Amino acid sequence: TPFDGHAIAPETAAFLAKEHKLLIGNEWVEGTGTMASRDPATGLELTRFAIGGAAQVDRAVAAARAAFRGPWRKMTVADRTAILFRLARIMEANATLLTQLDILDNGMPGFIAGLTTANCVEMVDYYAGAVMRIEGTTIAPPRHIAAETEALTYTLREPIGVAGLIVPWNVPLSTAILKLAPALAAGCTVVMKPSEETPLSVLALGQMIIDAGFPAGVVNIVNGLGAEAGQALAEHPHVDKVSFTGSTFTGKKIVQAALGNLKKVSLELGGKSPVVVMPDADLELAVPGVALATYFLQGQNCMAGTRIFLHESIHDQMVEGLKAFAGGMSLGHGLNPASFQGPMISDAHTAKVMSYIAKGQAEGATLVCGGQKLDRPGNFITPAIFTDCTPDMAIVREEIFGPVMAVQKFSTTDLDEIADMANDTPYGLSGSVWTRDLSTAHRLVSRIRSGHVSINCHGAVGTNIPFGGFGQSGWGREFGQEGLDAYLETKAVTARL
Ligand code: NAD
Repeated sequence: TPFDGHAIAPETAAFLAKEHKLLIGNEWVEGTGTMASRDPATGLELTRFAIGGAAQVDRAVAAARAAFRGPWRKMTVADRTAILFRLARIMEANATLLTQLDILDNGMPGFIAGLTTANCVEMVDYYAGAVMRIEGTTIAPPRHIAAETEALTYTLREPIGVAGLIVPWNVPLSTAILKLAPALAAGCTVVMKPSEETPLSVLALGQMIIDAGFPAGVVNIVNGLGAEAGQALAEHPHVDKVSFTGSTFTGKKIVQAALGNLKKVSLELGGKSPVVVMPDADLELAVPGVALATYFLQGQNCMAGTRIFLHESIHDQMVEGLKAFAGGMSLGHGLNPASFQGPMISDAHTAKVMSYIAKGQAEGATLVCGGQKLDRPGNFITPAIFTDCTPDMAIVREEIFGPVMAVQKFSTTDLDEIADMANDTPYGLSGSVWTRDLSTAHRLVSRIRSGHVSINCHGAVGTNIPFGGFGQSGWGREFGQEGLDAYLETKAVTARL
């Protein structure tokens, strides 16, 4: 049954019944065809949406360029601030719609979708507040001029220009807002390419952007396939910057596509983050914390902690606790408030996750629990725990992006050795350390090669806290001031007076 028998809000029903086109120059325009958006918890079609290719990307980039040269560039910072605050209020008033669209399109549990919508509003408010604090500096002028005459040197912080924003499906609204809000605050204009798996919340946002009063062309939304619309955007010679969130595999293609005009590139990529539980950890905290490090968003989470290192002294007790926690997680439709874990995004992704479960067993790891695809509509996989894992196994090395935990037992307490195990990965996005000894915690954190490490918690991201990857987890940072800097150029000016 549609929505698994749950009720949706009238505004969500009305949205799904609408035609969904591309947003170019504040007009909804046709694409080259349409695609279905499906509810991954039921497999049923929710609605159809227009998709575009190179021609539509070209029009959108032209609209963004015109807006950049014209009204957006000329708008006062006070007005730019006000319009962003207005968008935040409209999003807030439409929180139910945005939340339900992410639940339906992505499958995420309602409690997570509600949280991410609230965070998105906070993010727009945060960057709206940052517009007036974009500041340059004054510097001593160069000697050869200062020796001759009085002079003044200062820097300006200017928007990079037209930004191409390419986002994934795992947290659709949030990954989009993380780029959109700072890009607009900086004064850039944008062309956004949502994931073809989850276009809906960003399409709803498109109408809110029009309603907030953004001039035509400031925000353009071109849905489409990665290899078509995405590739065209990353390659486009009149795009000044591409900011990409997605897999490391696609991230490398983005870098190649950006070579033509050497556009600036930011990358938020995959992860295989370590979770280290020391002998003195508070296990009452660590059991649910480590379980959620892996299973939050059913493991479809870039910062998922999936390489679990358990000291031998607490290994068996932790595994028992994790097994009980995993067994107690209710799987179901995101609109059911009792659901703690949703489905995998698609049939293809389910097949990939299940292939890793088989691979783990073939490689000799012990499947303690889970790893079953439920015999019901939608792609639900029960949370899996593998123990007896070794560093060379595919389930330890590769990002699975599903509810699969790979546990390794260790016996040393030497922090360099522990850090070597934690750092044995090409990735470096997140990680956590669990111990009651804060000295151990901070010394271990300083040895872990990751952009974001938590102590006695995992994935503690926040609007004002920089987030991004070491190694093959990416280039640059989002959130906070660094998230804004990613859309600004520095211009140094010297004047002979
Ligand atoms: P993906 O790389 O398959 O796709 C991401 C986006 O890129 C989509 O919009 C897709 O259409 C587009 N795309 C695909 N091929 C392209 C091409 N050749 N040129 C331009 N665009 C192209 O990733 P996904 O499966 O949607 O998302 C999951 C991945 O995202 C995981 O690896 C996850 O770790 C990562 N992720 C990272 C972060 C982070 O902040 N570091 C956050 C969320 C997700």
